[in-house]
Amino acid sequence: MLASDRLGGPSALTARAVAAGTLLGRVDLLAAGSRSGEKAEAGRRIQGVDAVLLVNHSDAFPPSTENLAWLIQGMAGDYRWILAVHDAFGADLIPRVGGLLEISPVTQVNAILAPDVCTRPVYAGQAVARVILKKFPALLTVRPTAFAPAATIHALAPVLEVSLPAAVVSGRHQGYRSSPNQRPDLSEAAVIVAGGQGLESAHSFAAVEALADQLGGAVGATRGAVDAGLASSDLQIGQTGQIVAPDLYIGLGISGAIQHLAGIKDAGIIVAINHDPNAPLHAVADYSLVADLFDAAPRLGEAILARKKGR
Ligand SMILES: Cc1cc2nc3c(=O)[nH]c(=O)nc-3n(C[C@H](O)[C@H](O)[C@H](O)COP(=O)(O)OP(=O)(O)OC[C@H]3O[C@@H](n4cnc5c(N)ncnc54)[C@H](O)[C@@H]3O)c2cc1C
Repeated sequence: MLASDRLGGPSALTARAVAAGTLLGRVDLLAAGSRSGEKAEAGRRIQGVDAVLLVNHSDAFPPSTENLAWLIQGMAGDYRWILAVHDAFGADLIPRVGGLLEISPVTQVNAILAPDVCTRPVYAGQAVARVILKKFPALLTVRPTAFAPAATIHALAPVLEVSLPAAVVSGRHQGYRSSPNQRPDLSEAAVIVAGGQGLESAHSFAAVEALADQLGGAVGATRGAVDAGLASSDLQIGQTGQIVAPDLYIGLGISGAIQHLAGIKDAGIIVAINHDPNAPLHAVADYSLVADLFDAAPRLGEAILARKKGR
């Protein structure tokens, strides 16, 4: 199992993938990429991890996903399942391993029913496919929101060092650049305020950011908003964006296309603010406000602030 990566360091999503991995058998956690030492330290404390394989390389120049794919290909014979979180890191790496091994990965697994049977969403989450694994090692990416994180424990799993064969080190990944905001990460946020094309301009997208900041939440966007240049692509939620599972999701000026809904299926409470009563997002929302967002969003923000002050 591959330790997940968040901005070049350990990610809380790893514990969710470990939970999925323990349903299959023994879990060896591969800590690779930048700050692999920190990933190994965090990983060895996750319940269910039997051993951590720490990939030896310079943190100043961590290997690229191409190099890591070669490394995993070399180890594949020892494993029946190779598994990673379906995040930017895992979704980049696992298909490369699949290409080298000539095995088609099963992506976005949301349940493991037996060691050779799992399920994954298809048709933008409108149906669930039951997949029977027949070729091993099976390559899986798992939807982190579908698995509760394995606990952190005091016992420490052993760390074994693995060397990256010099022959595979060609391209090097030189680092990550994070967005300059201090908001929580979309994939782990408890509160998300997302904006769609109803925001009309990058300037008015500030209404989404203002409400997110009042709630201490993350900012998300639809692909419509990203394509229109209202928000950056790392904020996109949905089938071709990030899969999120906040306790509270507020959608402003979002129609609720199935490709967007595919990314918010696991959200707790969904609030829709859209002036069109027929917008599909209203149909899946727990709370619907048929209103102009430019009027409703600031009023909602003020009401929340007043309530916070009143406490
Ligand atoms: C293969 C594929 C993959 C895709 N992947 C994704 C994905 O990952 N994520 C994603 O989001 N989309 C994805 N899409 C695109 C998706 O189909 C929709 O086009 C997109 O989600 C629409 O974005 P939107 O809701 O912002 O825009 P629209 O559908 O244009 O909706 C804008 C909404 O804003 C409302 N509105 C306008 N003004 C106001 C106002 N002042 N106050 C209140 N409401 C207002 C309107 O009533 C409307 O409902 C994908 C499409 C394809 C084909």
